[in-house]
Amino acid sequence: MEKNKINYEGKIKPQRLDKKPKRQFWFFTWLINVLSRILMFKKIKLEKINMESLKGKPYVLLSNHQDFADFEVCSLATFPKRFSSIATLEGHYRRAGLLEMCGCIPKRKFTTDINLIKQCEIVLNEYKSVLVIYPEARYSPIGTRAIIPDSYAQLIKKLNHPVCVILHRGNYLRSPAWGWRKKRKVKTYSTIKQVLTKEDVEKLSEAEIMEVITKELDYNEYAYQKENNIIIDAPFRAEGLHKVLYKCPHCMAENMKSQGERLYCPDCKKEWELTVTGELKALSGETEFSSPPQWFEWERQEVRKEIDSGAYGFEGQVDVYSLPNTKNFIPLGMCTLKHSQKSGFTIEGSYNNEDFIISRPVAGMYGVHIEFDYCYIKPEPCIQISLSNDTFVCFPTKENVVMKLLFATEELYKVEMEERAKRRAQRLQELKNEEKE
Ligand SMILES: [Zn+2]
Repeated sequence: MEKNKINYEGKIKPQRLDKKPKRQFWFFTWLINVLSRILMFKKIKLEKINMESLKGKPYVLLSNHQDFADFEVCSLATFPKRFSSIATLEGHYRRAGLLEMCGCIPKRKFTTDINLIKQCEIVLNEYKSVLVIYPEARYSPIGTRAIIPDSYAQLIKKLNHPVCVILHRGNYLRSPAWGWRKKRKVKTYSTIKQVLTKEDVEKLSEAEIMEVITKELDYNEYAYQKENNIIIDAPFRAEGLHKVLYKCPHCMAENMKSQGERLYCPDCKKEWELTVTGELKALSGETEFSSPPQWFEWERQEVRKEIDSGAYGFEGQVDVYSLPNTKNFIPLGMCTLKHSQKSGFTIEGSYNNEDFIISRPVAGMYGVHIEFDYCYIKPEPCIQISLSNDTFVCFPTKENVVMKLLFATEELYKVEMEERAKRRAQRLQELKNEEKE
């Protein structure tokens, strides 16, 4: 059995990701702008900071990511300049031609793509367009910034153009990833700001560039709600929140549920209310975490403890669909998904009478894509594991597991990188000692 290969009987061609990107067709620059104006009418305030010197010039635009509305706001902020976005391949599902005309460059998430730099250079140098990148690579689960890998500083250095950050506030509160089907009434506020001039990009070290972009991309939607006294009194405001806050801080069971404005634990029966100002309040006893992001970070620490003690591991049944190209999701049936410190992710299954193993080691994945209510196949939580030529959308049969798998992916990656750094330092020390002798 060959690893990382599905027996498609030669009938399926994987999507080419090395194509030259198309320049955004001018008609779409206008059309996207008009549609975005209509969709965001009276819902948004947009402010431009330090952008005057960039009139008519190409630049790199980094955007935080909370909801599809971010794309619409990016179009409003960059208009009338043409822009190209790096977009997930699944977004191209059944409309690849249209998205390419809109300037989108399809990518598979959390994989290394050797064509990316060249494609970005074409957008900036040849088309003189704005290059839009969402470094978090998925919608924020709890309204705070995700890990941004250091490789972004290398990319920015290589591209050698001014860098702007567009920061959206309120898009998560309006439409959280765990409950996006019913919108809350929240006015959003976005700023677009030049954070690095071309000279800065040339002058600053990679570490200094990382410091600037991570600081500028920092956000906390619940802090924003509190500071601006935003009232969200929708009676369904906590519905789905248990998909992110899955672990009970009272009895430690990973079995939380939600209904209406409440989160509750069926095991110990403790209940919390998500108040209209975005705070959590225990209906009896101590309120462990009043801020949802605090609860979230506590869960991450709990996963890290499991990893550090050697107890972490996942094995479960998943219903899998693959996406080798943008034409169809192919049902591969029930498979076994495993996740461990030693082997990273593996998916084991059988298709067209041939067994397969898909494998992604820990070192190659600083994050993973998860969804809480997937819009393309079925409205359930899923985790997506990508190779360079295929993507596997896995729906676990067990509830409340995808968020923990994401924490584990990020923490295992951190552990791996820390261990590598330690080994490197040790080796350097040994070489120094040898020289002395
Ligand atoms: Zn409990």
